[in-house]
Amino acid sequence: MKSHFKLAFLLTSLFLSLAISAAAQDLGPGFTKIKDGIYTFAPDATTTTCSFIVTQEGVVMIDSCSSPIHSRNMLAAIKKVTDKPIVFLIDTETHGDHTANHYVFSPPATVINHTGAGAAMRKEYNPKRAETLAMKSAELREAVKGERLIVPHIEYKDRMTINLGERTFELFFLKNVHSEADTAIWLPKERVLFAASAANVRRILNLRPSVVIPDVLASLKLMKSLNPEIVVTGHGPATTTKVFDEYEAFYTLLLKRVGDMAAQGKSLDEIKKELKMPEFADWHDQARLGANIDAAWKVVNK
Ligand SMILES: [Zn+2]
Repeated sequence: MKSHFKLAFLLTSLFLSLAISAAAQDLGPGFTKIKDGIYTFAPDATTTTCSFIVTQEGVVMIDSCSSPIHSRNMLAAIKKVTDKPIVFLIDTETHGDHTANHYVFSPPATVINHTGAGAAMRKEYNPKRAETLAMKSAELREAVKGERLIVPHIEYKDRMTINLGERTFELFFLKNVHSEADTAIWLPKERVLFAASAANVRRILNLRPSVVIPDVLASLKLMKSLNPEIVVTGHGPATTTKVFDEYEAFYTLLLKRVGDMAAQGKSLDEIKKELKMPEFADWHDQARLGANIDAAWKVVNK
């Protein structure tokens, strides 16, 4: 009798776990349920990641996906999981591959990012974007319908806390790490951190002239100190704090090498020709090493 009960229990739990994993898979390729009610969409190793979090009072999205087709898939996935509205859409940066598809989700979503985000987005916006994309395929033509620039409705300064339903979202500004306004989002109860593009997953980042490597290192340290269980970066699949260690190692070694070569009297051009980072040869986007050497050169010659 007892063993029958045990068997029934095992079968029920097996059925439940199968049902749960089937539910996550139903959202389509690239979607991962990282915790209860928290889903990421990472199409591949380098394309923009976008995510959504379900609360009792509605949905919070993180970034609006790169392609309008991805955004439409995202909207369909959210509707499969919940009938609650998207209340907030938080941007982790200003660049178009994270922000250009707000129109798919807003209204109803209220868009949020740090001060300066709207100005940066206006500067980057290409009014011919919808027209250009529509020519590429019938699917894109459909997906760009209604396309327009929507800048953040709310711009916070330094820090912001959002309480929605049972969840808390702590937003903090990451200074000089990637774009004009980079926001990390921390869910302290769930121990999930959305880390923006201070780090990605095994990828050499395109460091623009505004990026300051010591500020990047400080932001990696700050994010690691939160002790998250899961880290979702701006691009690539969900990972752990190991990304912070990897990028810290990368920039520390880069600064050392550029510093040593500069001390030997080498010019920036010579360093760019000679410097190699074989320890990170398997990272994506090796062609961006030059921009990283530029940023390191500025630190060394300060
Ligand atoms: Zn970016």
